[in-house]
Amino acid sequence: MSKKILTVSLASAMAFGALATAAIPVGAVGNGPNYNGNESIRTSMLITYDEMVDYLKKQEKMQEALELEVIGQTVKGRDIYLAKYISNPANPTILFLTQQHGNEQLATEGALEFIKHLGTGKTKGVLENVNVLIVPMQNADGAMGDVNFSTENYVADGGRHLTRTNANNFDLNREHDKEVSSMQPEAYALHKNVLEKYDIDYLIDLHHQGTQSEINGKYVSGSILYPTNSSINPEVVENSKKLGAVVYHEIESKGWGHLGKYNGGTGLNIGRNGIAERYDIATLLFEMRGMSDHSYEPYVLGQKSNGYLIKQSIATLDSTVRAIADGSIESVDTSFWEILPFQTNRIAEEEEGE
Ligand SMILES: [Zn+2]
Repeated sequence: MSKKILTVSLASAMAFGALATAAIPVGAVGNGPNYNGNESIRTSMLITYDEMVDYLKKQEKMQEALELEVIGQTVKGRDIYLAKYISNPANPTILFLTQQHGNEQLATEGALEFIKHLGTGKTKGVLENVNVLIVPMQNADGAMGDVNFSTENYVADGGRHLTRTNANNFDLNREHDKEVSSMQPEAYALHKNVLEKYDIDYLIDLHHQGTQSEINGKYVSGSILYPTNSSINPEVVENSKKLGAVVYHEIESKGWGHLGKYNGGTGLNIGRNGIAERYDIATLLFEMRGMSDHSYEPYVLGQKSNGYLIKQSIATLDSTVRAIADGSIESVDTSFWEILPFQTNRIAEEEEGE
């Protein structure tokens, strides 16, 4: 709706004394805007791949501790970037991965903001005790809608569509049980030049799910899960639960935070399971509310929620980096996992998760 039309309709509502009943959606989670509100879904305010590369290069110039590495190329030839903060290889190392699914962009926006924070006094001293690796926009072709299939029926406006799968229409989060040499180019780059190359202890894989997930009758701001395949080393699972506990306690302490347990599968083709099994890395899946674009309307969330979802990503990265740096992750209380309810869907949604 254009501003002009909104002004006119409010004026007519006032003329009839009906302003008090005019529904104006608010942005708080739990009772926030639905996908089917009047707001338009505009992708033009999301950062593009080229803008992201410019941003990263600028941050690299400004931050002594930051080094960029190109780990490979997408199907369409875009460089895939790894942002590295390695002060001491002997330190514990955490990897953050965003946008394996190209239509799940706000976690990337949060990760880029966090990179900026790492260059300021806000995290002073922290980087001396932890190594941080970030792969933002793993599926850049999907993020830019530069794909070899039609996006005609996608719901967003704003100059570009964003797709879950890569340009070859492969789901990059179903590649993780293959021989590395036969993976899609984006997954190959991640395994060959990040997972095999660096000594990584923790991974948070950041995603977005549909808009209709809830627990206790209230929409969730996101849901989390540790690896659930029975072949995974129990110690790795325990460390994954600790990673989740840091995130849970941090997000639940925010006024807008409300987390459920994600009902995910046990397949090793999924990063959460496959990466934990193959490399003994403690992994956490974080599914945030609402996708940036999709052909199925109930998955897509209006931009009024962008602010808190980006904050949720930043808080996730910031809290886990701090808890690893000061060692408090070792003694975090994981008992909430025993009682955290699995999320359910308020309206029936097709299953396309993780
Ligand atoms: Zn996803």
